[in-house]
Amino acid sequence: MTLPWNAYEAPHIVTRDREGYSDDLGTLPEGSDIDCTLARRTLDDVADWVVVGSGAAGATVACTLAEAGESVVIVEEGPWVRTREFKRDFFPALKQLWRGMGTNVAHGRSIIPYMQGRCVGGTTVINSAIAWRTPEDILAAWTERLGVDSLEKSLDPHFTFLEDALSVRPVSDQALGENSAIFGLGAARLGIESHVIHRYDTGCDASSACGNGCRTAKKQSMAITFVPRTLRAGGRIYHSAEVQRVEMLGRRAVAVLATMKGPGGPHVLRVHARKGVIVAASTVQSPNILRRSGVRSAHLGEHFQAHPGVSVAARFDQDVQLDFGSTQGFNSLELLKTHGIKLESLHLPPELAIARLPGLGAPLMDRFADYGRLAVSAVVIKSEAEGRVSERFGGDSVRFSLTKRDMERTLVGLELTTKILFAAGAREVYPGAHGMPSVLHSIDEASKWREGPTDTRAYNMVMTHLFGATRMAQRAQDGVVGTDFSVHDCKGLYVVDSGVFPTNIGVNPQHTIMALARHAAYGLLSEPSR
Ligand SMILES: Cc1cc2nc3c(=O)[nH]c(=O)nc-3n(C[C@H](O)[C@H](O)[C@H](O)COP(=O)(O)OP(=O)(O)OC[C@H]3O[C@@H](n4cnc5c(N)ncnc54)[C@H](O)[C@@H]3O)c2cc1C
Ligand code: SF4
Repeated sequence: MTLPWNAYEAPHIVTRDREGYSDDLGTLPEGSDIDCTLARRTLDDVADWVVVGSGAAGATVACTLAEAGESVVIVEEGPWVRTREFKRDFFPALKQLWRGMGTNVAHGRSIIPYMQGRCVGGTTVINSAIAWRTPEDILAAWTERLGVDSLEKSLDPHFTFLEDALSVRPVSDQALGENSAIFGLGAARLGIESHVIHRYDTGCDASSACGNGCRTAKKQSMAITFVPRTLRAGGRIYHSAEVQRVEMLGRRAVAVLATMKGPGGPHVLRVHARKGVIVAASTVQSPNILRRSGVRSAHLGEHFQAHPGVSVAARFDQDVQLDFGSTQGFNSLELLKTHGIKLESLHLPPELAIARLPGLGAPLMDRFADYGRLAVSAVVIKSEAEGRVSERFGGDSVRFSLTKRDMERTLVGLELTTKILFAAGAREVYPGAHGMPSVLHSIDEASKWREGPTDTRAYNMVMTHLFGATRMAQRAQDGVVGTDFSVHDCKGLYVVDSGVFPTNIGVNPQHTIMALARHAAYGLLSEPSR
């Protein structure tokens, strides 16, 4: 079997910025960018604030503090892979940028992979860059639950700042791609609310490869925005340095201890924090760092929540070219308020798209030969289920099972997605769920989802939005951090990543994470010595 065209020679536009990229080696202030794979001995440093993790939360809080004149050190476990090193192929990205090469799984009723970045810039380097303000009803509920001033008002200026700084804009017509256009067309024909996605983007080149790192620096990840800005404002970053624990003096956080695997290592990195330690290592890693640091709370690692997602593939008569377009371009909140479901188009490279096709051997290869005419859309579930993050055998462990109600809602989303694809002209839809027919042939057959499986083991799900395992609550008996982001009963120790979300939010979380991190930084600047 030969593919109709060489998937790796798809007609992508690759531009190079003549001025260079903001993460280019040699362009950052001397001594600000420390590669710990080169460390030959124990290192010591000191700063006002030590930030653990350089993803959405860490880079935002670090940049805000550094630009306000505070001295800041970021300690990041992963390597700094520069824009010029990103590859067209997915496999090198998996090895360099994705935590555990994308193989980490949550255990429960079924096994669900959860995806994270492990590099400078964190998950923002591999994500789809979709920017959603927190829904108003969620902010109103959080405001009441936390007993704070209106979060809608407090976060509004931060959202505005972020939208400007990270160039939030709708996907352009040129970058939309046929797959996303199909989603919009099908939704319009059914009279369903849908619209073009807004992203952190300075002019997407439509490579559909956000998961590989953006080779033209159009996606505004933290690695090319707030991390370099932090360094230009006087901060430093130690990368390839895994934080083991926060050193406590009594209940006060005084330093961060990390392991560097340089020549003759491992060596120890110790960064003393004059004002505080800010943990922003994500909702999976932060609870375990706190645990290793001696923090005890009945809520530590509990209330883990997520947006599991499941996708549906379809075959069209016309060219779709799943690997041309912004990675995600169209979405619909039609079912969000009623069913907690968000629908969206999803571009996939051939090596991932094949997993969405039915059959084995020759029939599978025949279908795969039609890669150029495949479309994919996804159902994202605002699950009510809560799981747990802990540490087992020295590694992160996540336990999580969707509830029956979550699954019943998922079926509603799958039925509507199938209808959208048929309404846009699909010849066949591939449900990809055990217990469903392997191929659906008409829009009428979409109703078969009503009798579809409610057992999560029937699906290939993945989780990309994770939160809640260091929940914010006013009182120590209800959560891990207070409304000032400081860990209850500790001094100088803060958590600012998505672990602090009091509840699930239902939309892509990066914008909320960054707005909260900036809000936290403003709080620290106004009252720095707690
Ligand atoms: C494929 C994919 C697509 C996504 N698409 C979108 C999207 O379009 N829009 C959106 O809003 N969200 C999206 N998300 C989710 C979003 O990227 C994350 O929710 C967000 O980046 C989380 O921010 P964070 O700061 O909490 O964690 P991260 O961004 O993951 O950053 C945490 C950082 O901490 C580091 N770290 C962890 N442990 C340690 C340690 N012990 N020592 C030192 N450093 C450590 C990690 O290496 C990492 O760099 C997507 C996620 C994935 C996986
Ligand atoms: S699809 Fe993603 S990786 Fe490709 S150019 Fe656009 S933003 Fe960059």
